[in-house]
Amino acid sequence: MSTTQNKDYYATLGVKKTATPEEIRKAFRKAARRYHPDVNPNDKRAEEKFKEISEANDVLSDDKKRKVYDQVGYYSDQIDPSQAEAFAYARQSGGHAPVDFGGFDFSGFQGSPGQYPGAQAGAAGAAGNPASWGSFKDIFSGIFSGAQQPQRPLGPQPGSDLEYQATVDFWTAIRGGQARLLVHRQEICPHCQGQAHTMGPMQCPECNGTGQVTQMGGRMKFNIACPRCNGQGRTTSACGVCYGEGTVSRSETVDFRIKPGTRDGQRIRLQGKGNAGLNGGAAGDLFVIVRTAEHAVFTRVGDDIQLTVPVTIAEAALGAKVDVPTIDGRAQLKIPPGTQSGQKLRMRERGVESSQRTGQRGDQIVTVEVVVPTLQDERSKEIMRELAKLNSQDPRLSLFEKL
Ligand SMILES: [Zn+2]
Ligand SMILES: [Zn+2]
Repeated sequence: MSTTQNKDYYATLGVKKTATPEEIRKAFRKAARRYHPDVNPNDKRAEEKFKEISEANDVLSDDKKRKVYDQVGYYSDQIDPSQAEAFAYARQSGGHAPVDFGGFDFSGFQGSPGQYPGAQAGAAGAAGNPASWGSFKDIFSGIFSGAQQPQRPLGPQPGSDLEYQATVDFWTAIRGGQARLLVHRQEICPHCQGQAHTMGPMQCPECNGTGQVTQMGGRMKFNIACPRCNGQGRTTSACGVCYGEGTVSRSETVDFRIKPGTRDGQRIRLQGKGNAGLNGGAAGDLFVIVRTAEHAVFTRVGDDIQLTVPVTIAEAALGAKVDVPTIDGRAQLKIPPGTQSGQKLRMRERGVESSQRTGQRGDQIVTVEVVVPTLQDERSKEIMRELAKLNSQDPRLSLFEKL
């Protein structure tokens, strides 16, 4: 019969005993890609090798299991980490198991007595008839209190949220529309449906389908749930598609709606479009942070639109009605007489329709920029000098008054 004793999982994965979890993970992935049955159809050796690396990975990739393995030399769910420590300690300090089994007769158990150096065949103890004290496992489990609990399946774990930025066109943000985003997300593995392991139809070669194996631990020998199949009697192996993760990375194009009036920095929540959950946990959400693109003429500040409008000296001085662009097309703006360069004029409700409050719009704020003409002819210059004579106020006077 076979046992998992003395299997060198480190050698199987080709890593050092001091390997970090990341190194183990990489080594397993590399080996899994090479030996996976899908890649090697009808190759028994590859299949066997794949099972070996899966088993090694199963133990070494789990901190607790690895610790037990390092201390005892094999792994079983029946062994509690604190007991493993006691074993390791006992072995170091002279080979004595923490519990004295010297009085028991082990001859009634699986395996040959020769495998068990500490057992003295024929040294029948108080319980002379093995049948009267049940299976060794029962005794063992009693000593290893708490260790008998079945492997607790993990509860549902919700998937994590994702956050992406999406730049949308200036007009799409104002008028609303559809936007599209390429998202990389974790999805439930389609091969194993998120189980991470696939259960084969084959009988477990470790336990021949019984679900139990006999183990040696220091001076003790006992039956435990088969570590390869977790006592199921059938083989399991890490899923070759997700390499035992339960999820796979996928790129997906996500279409979403942009509400009219969407502002720069606004977050859109797409429920369930984040990473997939594990063990039936809900998927996370996808948050899209909208970045609105700039426009050559209009500047958007919240729901307001700002722009600079050039006017002539005559328009600024005398007042005028000028056509200005708005997001709805041309509109007339009244320039009051005596408007200064840099002065701001407000066009009420010519801004962006609010995405928060229906029916409300922002304003358009026009910054007036007086354009000074370059005078070419003598007549214009004459008129300008005459104008200056008629309006001789010093515009810098106030600067000196404040000194
Ligand atoms: Zn899978
Ligand atoms: Zn098994």
